[in-house]
Amino acid sequence: MNTFDINKVIRQNIQRMKPYSSARSEFEGTTSVMLDANENSIGSTLSVPYNRYPDPLQKELKKRIGQIKQIDPANIFIGNGSDEPIDLLIRATCDPGKHNIIICPPTYGMYEVAANINDVAIKQVLLTEEYQLDTNAILATIDEGTRLIFLCSPNNPTGNVLKEKDIISILESFPGIVVLDEAYIDFAEASSFINKLIDYPNLVILQTFSKAWGLAGLRLGTAYASEAIISVLNKIKAPYNIGVLTQQSAISALTNEVDVHSWIALIRQQRETMTRELRQFSFVEKVYPSDANFLLTKVADADVLYNYLLTQNIVVRNRSNVPLCENCLRITIGTEQENELLLDALKKYNS
Ligand SMILES: *Cc1c(COP(=O)(O)O)cnc(C)c1O
Repeated sequence: MNTFDINKVIRQNIQRMKPYSSARSEFEGTTSVMLDANENSIGSTLSVPYNRYPDPLQKELKKRIGQIKQIDPANIFIGNGSDEPIDLLIRATCDPGKHNIIICPPTYGMYEVAANINDVAIKQVLLTEEYQLDTNAILATIDEGTRLIFLCSPNNPTGNVLKEKDIISILESFPGIVVLDEAYIDFAEASSFINKLIDYPNLVILQTFSKAWGLAGLRLGTAYASEAIISVLNKIKAPYNIGVLTQQSAISALTNEVDVHSWIALIRQQRETMTRELRQFSFVEKVYPSDANFLLTKVADADVLYNYLLTQNIVVRNRSNVPLCENCLRITIGTEQENELLLDALKKYNS
């Protein structure tokens, strides 16, 4: 049984501090004379009235996201990309130079970068050869200073979903916070852990509008968790972390779920086609099964192929220096036409 106690994982200084109280959090809504926030009441240099500060808690946007995800807005945090909740979770829980986090390489690079920026130690427990969690090794690595474990499913750059029972066994045994990054969950068969939040008060799920929703340029990442954890993130975030423009664009983007579903279907279908096609090439040693919108592909010489593709004006991600990814390229599924161009270039490379 898990003995999660949020007061034991949030830093003392964070628990003690009083958050900044912005003008827009002390007076919500609009009235005819707004002289509380030192805005420019006369006008804005843009035709749209951007002279007013945004809603610090993005209530309208959270309401929409809550409807789509079937979750209470009190369990939603919205950040400037997933980068923001990743950084905030580390800053909320880890005293620099004292506490540590566990990551499971090969995985997304930002967990390590955010920990390094905050001077927080990183313990690495490699995935197995099958790119699954080594749960025993993870549990053995947890020590008194471990505050967060970052898991990524489907994992970047390997593309596979982590086994549900492994994630659950860590959730049940670890008294700190388990951060489950589901950036690619929209492309997977497996379902999100969102409906398990109720069972695991130490679970934080990260999702993003950068991938399936096609909004990478907006910078919109979400964290879903217990109200207690979300409150801490709200307490320490920059007061106006999501601009008016982003909030408005996101609200209208969310009405377009139909497109997202058809893109996901197309990307999945192209993922199967590309897997089959790539496997035909003699220099392709392995195309790993993917539940994401990319294919990890092991080739004879990744550096040479990477550089050749650049000469063909095609850029892929060279992951060959990452542990367990020797000679691997990570190839995003593009449009049908882009995928064709890649295949044509590979045919030329082969001959
Ligand atoms: C792309 C990606 C994200 C999304 O990052 P944003 O900052 O929201 O654009 C998060 N996690 C993983 C594993 C990713 O690959």
